[in-house]
Amino acid sequence: MNESTNYSKYECRICSNKLDVKLYSLKEMFLCTKEIYEFFQCENCRCIQIAEFPEDFSAFYPENYYSFKSNESKIVETENWRIKIKRSLIRKRDEAQLYGHGILGKILNLFKPLEERKLASLVGLGLKPNSRILDVGCGSGEFLMHLFDLGMKDLTGIDPFLDKDILKSNGPKIYKRSLEEISADGSLFDLVMLHHVFEHVKDPLNVLKHCKKLLKEQGFLLIRIPIADCYAWREYSVNWVQLDSPRHTFIYSMEAIRMLSSEAGLEIVDLKFDSTDFQFWGSIQYANDICLNAPNSYMVNQESSIFSRKEIKQFIRRADKLNEQSDGDQCVILLRKSIDSKNN
Ligand SMILES: [Zn+2]
Repeated sequence: MNESTNYSKYECRICSNKLDVKLYSLKEMFLCTKEIYEFFQCENCRCIQIAEFPEDFSAFYPENYYSFKSNESKIVETENWRIKIKRSLIRKRDEAQLYGHGILGKILNLFKPLEERKLASLVGLGLKPNSRILDVGCGSGEFLMHLFDLGMKDLTGIDPFLDKDILKSNGPKIYKRSLEEISADGSLFDLVMLHHVFEHVKDPLNVLKHCKKLLKEQGFLLIRIPIADCYAWREYSVNWVQLDSPRHTFIYSMEAIRMLSSEAGLEIVDLKFDSTDFQFWGSIQYANDICLNAPNSYMVNQESSIFSRKEIKQFIRRADKLNEQSDGDQCVILLRKSIDSKNN
């Protein structure tokens, strides 16, 4: 693929640098249109970003994109008693992790640790069943439903791409609404979360400012994103699966996140890497010209994929290792209002 250095037509939207940006031509490989979009990496703050926004993004978000986003929190309904017992033990474990109490749940977590990335990202936040939580870009609200099943009572989700609101008398409130709209109505939350949403936006600083407006004084903003300058970017370059051209408009570096959060009046209070085997099998597929939705993609059909079970197990172990080394390709960033900005 083409690339050139010191290309100065574009200016970094994070740090305003325009002297050293490196261009990359990235194929759309999820839906398999293979259309090419120009991206660049700023050599100053290291943020990777799309060169020009496509006019209409909606064509890049078909229904199966949502089901893909939420497949880590799917709950399988079944009548089998063994599975019922297993589910009730998993629930005990998850409640113990979420609320930080329950001996049985803590013991269960030693034997079978919580792996689901969305839920794991909430461990240690001191949440209570009545904590007010907002999920930005919640899709159909599956994760909120999962939290509701674990006893959380005050759950709201917003997603401008929904057909309509999903409002039940008992359960999470899901609105077809933008971040700007909900922050304008004065609601305040203990936790605002963006699970793999912040890499899809057009104006990241504006998003952070609106999120800050939605936080209670001691509230947390939790952002899960792919992160640049990781092993997968160095190893797979233009084939790194989490570039997800053109949907991922920004693949931030930690420096870019620091600059943006400071500008928005937020401070980083915690950072954890939570990458998975996806960085390996997805990127290797792209390098072999196999799209994510192809019949022989590991995502679509594990049996007809190019990977053996042994290889996938190795990928999982390697992802854990990269996370320990802060070199995984995605992370959880926890932010709070910075002390100087609390009075603003
Ligand atoms: Zn920059």
